[in-house]
Amino acid sequence: MAKKLQSIRGIHDGLPEQVRCWQHIEQAARTIFERYAFSEVRLPVLEPTELFVRSIGAATDIVSKEMYAFVDQGGDHICLRPEGTAGAVRAYLQAGLTRSGAQRWYYMGPMFRRERPQKGRLRQFQQIGLEWFGVSGPVEDVEVLALAESFLKALGLVDLRLELNSLGCDQCRPVYRTVLVDFLRNAADRLCETCHERTEKNPMRVLDCKEERCQSTLREAPEITGHLCAACASHFEQLKLGLDALGIGYEVNPRIVRGLDYYNRTAFEFVTDRLGAQGTVLAGGRYDGLIEELGGPATPAIGFAAGVERLAMLLETPESPRPDFAIVSLGEQTLVWSLEQADWLRSQGFVVVHCGGGGAKRQFKLADREHARFTAVIGEEEMQRNLITVKDMETGEQRTMTRQEVVTFAHR
Ligand code: ATP
Ligand code: MG
Repeated sequence: MAKKLQSIRGIHDGLPEQVRCWQHIEQAARTIFERYAFSEVRLPVLEPTELFVRSIGAATDIVSKEMYAFVDQGGDHICLRPEGTAGAVRAYLQAGLTRSGAQRWYYMGPMFRRERPQKGRLRQFQQIGLEWFGVSGPVEDVEVLALAESFLKALGLVDLRLELNSLGCDQCRPVYRTVLVDFLRNAADRLCETCHERTEKNPMRVLDCKEERCQSTLREAPEITGHLCAACASHFEQLKLGLDALGIGYEVNPRIVRGLDYYNRTAFEFVTDRLGAQGTVLAGGRYDGLIEELGGPATPAIGFAAGVERLAMLLETPESPRPDFAIVSLGEQTLVWSLEQADWLRSQGFVVVHCGGGGAKRQFKLADREHARFTAVIGEEEMQRNLITVKDMETGEQRTMTRQEVVTFAHR
């Protein structure tokens, strides 16, 4: 027998029940994001590999080992997007929008990272993200966090923690970096192998290490919040005041650094304790240097992305929808007329399944399995009198009536 074909490890199918949950999340996002006047964009899944190398940073985990990158038949270096921001910036520049005032975009779709698959850590996963180009904050930072909180609240997720940090800027971060590298080199024997490497290549990333040993060592590490320049400190202060004013709770966590190089100043994560090491469900921050880095004019920006599968794990699976009617047609003569009645009921907004005609026993069994609210039986007598026999499956009540009466009956 041929080997069974399977999906790739860490890449899952979205079957109806799962997709219903995702759609619920997407719908909440659309509703809330559009209230803040954000517009959806649909951007390519394939991008030039160079885009991610230049934006995310060569020393990050994503670029150094997680990208699905390949050379296509024409010799072009191509990559399945691991995240949405770089592509959004590319599209913004390509469309020549840098002088059109602030742009508010959101997107949803699949991202690809060749990580070690775990619960809540997949190789193909979906993000819902948002980018606001051309705003320097801190007012907009407050608004983005208010929006993110409203979105999570709309999903009924009220037990999440907002962790907040400032990553400083080109002025103050290098100073902090030096102090941090000193600390890390001295603490090297209490850090994991990967962190030794990070200390030299990308020291801020050490703070984000998920190893327990590293985390406990890092409790004594110097904190960026103590090294911010006056402008960054003031930006951070105003952000916190804004959140306080809106009643949005947060904790300052000086170890939040984000896994991508392009962030500066505001960085944040919404975290749950219910998903272990995969507890971050929504994360983002400011990236004031990225647009210039990719060849555009200096343009500040802020954004975030949420992991749809992680959000879904925190939500109850929505119940499968029940059809309103299952149509049983008895006798060959009635089939066409019963199909017409099914369509007429659909035109009235009802969800209708037709049981396909044929034997009565088989049809009633099918009708049962559909869990429709009503079974509509159409026999020859009904057809001749232009009537339908409707049984309420909950109460057992059964009546023969005109199709207009059926509508009223079903709407009771
Ligand atoms: P983590 O620290 O969990 O690896 P990250 O910092 O790499 O996350 P981002 O690049 O900021 O994540 O992506 C934003 C969100 O996308 C994450 O907070 C998470 O909810 C989701 N996400 C990221 N990677 C994965 C993945 N491999 N599988 C499922 N969801 C993911
Ligand atoms: Mg990651």
